[in-house]
Amino acid sequence: MLKIINPSNEEVLAQLESDTPATVHEKFRRAKVAQVDWARQPMVVRKEFLKRFRNLLVEKRDDLALTLSQETGKPITQAKNEIGATPQRIDFFLEHVEKITAEELMLKEGGGDRPTLEEKISYEPLGVIANISAWNYPYFVGSNVFVPALLTGNAVLYKPSEIASLSGIAIAKLLWEAGVPQDVFAPVIGSGAMGGAVLEEPVNGIYFTGSVATGRKIAAVAASRLVKVQLELGGKDATYVCEDVDVKSAAESLADGAFYNAGQSCCAVERIYVHTSIYAAFMEHFLETVRGFVVGDPLSPKTYIGPLAREAQLAVLDEQVKDAVSKGAKLLCGGKRDDRSGYYYEPTVLTNVTSSMQVMRDESFGPIIGIAEVQNDKDVVALMNDSSYGLTSGVYTKDAQRAQRILSQMQSGTVYWNCCDRVSPRLPWSGRKQSGLGATLSYEGIRTFVQPKAWHLRSA
Ligand code: NAD
Repeated sequence: MLKIINPSNEEVLAQLESDTPATVHEKFRRAKVAQVDWARQPMVVRKEFLKRFRNLLVEKRDDLALTLSQETGKPITQAKNEIGATPQRIDFFLEHVEKITAEELMLKEGGGDRPTLEEKISYEPLGVIANISAWNYPYFVGSNVFVPALLTGNAVLYKPSEIASLSGIAIAKLLWEAGVPQDVFAPVIGSGAMGGAVLEEPVNGIYFTGSVATGRKIAAVAASRLVKVQLELGGKDATYVCEDVDVKSAAESLADGAFYNAGQSCCAVERIYVHTSIYAAFMEHFLETVRGFVVGDPLSPKTYIGPLAREAQLAVLDEQVKDAVSKGAKLLCGGKRDDRSGYYYEPTVLTNVTSSMQVMRDESFGPIIGIAEVQNDKDVVALMNDSSYGLTSGVYTKDAQRAQRILSQMQSGTVYWNCCDRVSPRLPWSGRKQSGLGATLSYEGIRTFVQPKAWHLRSA
């Protein structure tokens, strides 16, 4: 049995029957058969099912948000935001999938009484893919994968995180209600071991969202099988605040980027570098904003910061604070587990931080931020790139050319000017260095679920 714990009060919310390697095997076998018929359906039919799923998300948003909030501790307003914004992503896929996967005629020669030569490319589904998902945005990161995968004719073995299993089951039920056959979209419930069981099956593609540590294990399995693998992993995202900004609004924007969803976003702001000439003013506004965040019951619409989803992460944050303070950092607020029951951690701000501290090197994935004072653009580019991660980086300045110059040097898949913690369905979501392999969203995030076939056609 899989116990689902409510992280805001540590009570058991539900107990779910876990899959076993045998049930996973049976789901794979059935998916393999069902995929053939699914791929034969005209695109318009598959689109119609996914459109219905999209509409069901709109209709049932509030109920789905309640479940998501209870099982992950995500504040209810943020849970509604996530589910409310997922249809826009689905719309992007619905609008572009046909164009991106249409056959392409690359060459046509000859004709009349001469033999013809045609070269064309067609795009075929991969088959059955594994979608192993993270808990922190199950609707966003899940639909980035399973929506285009299904639209392009693949069957999906969907492994939601053990922490977001109720939401995973809700997603499966809505897809089935929308008309997607149960064998074409099969949820696999359980801990990481069941993710491992999915990978024991000869799936045709592995799409993983989660931590670097698990990503490495998945990549090793993929290497032994020579199967396509895509990894969307963690980040240590840095932002630079230049001296020419509106300090208050930059501080408010970055406090939100660092603490939204209690900092448990892959693209949360995790390091801030502030130009020395505005440093004091920035800190004043930043701290004022953080002190104003309402920490509490995720089901209250007033709550901005809820508990962490995972109890074990509390110790990671404690360790980062201890390490930073022992190396000379100043703790301006927070720094420990909150007294109330539940997995709450106080919103934490550290300054005087350096690149040698864990809080500036390792993903925190919690309500904690390190802020450093910097003298010039050259130093800051080196500091921001001094990371094993490369998911996003940003700069706040009024000067467009300066932003362009700095952002073009960033070793990350996404760059932001005067914004942060933002994802668009129109743009590829990809990590450099240890933040991942491959991309979801955009045209890239459709093409990744098909394989090209090259046709050389010469008439006799
Ligand atoms: P996690 O790595 O603990 O788990 C992710 C999934 O992998 C879960 O479904 C889990 O059950 C499964 N799993 C665990 N061990 C496995 C194994 N050996 N074989 C197969 N599957 C296994 O990650 P998490 O805590 O759910 O998510 C948080 C992490 O995800 C953070 O690092 C965050 O930055 C990252 N993330 C990245 C993105 C992105 O787009 N780059 C998006 C969301 C989250």
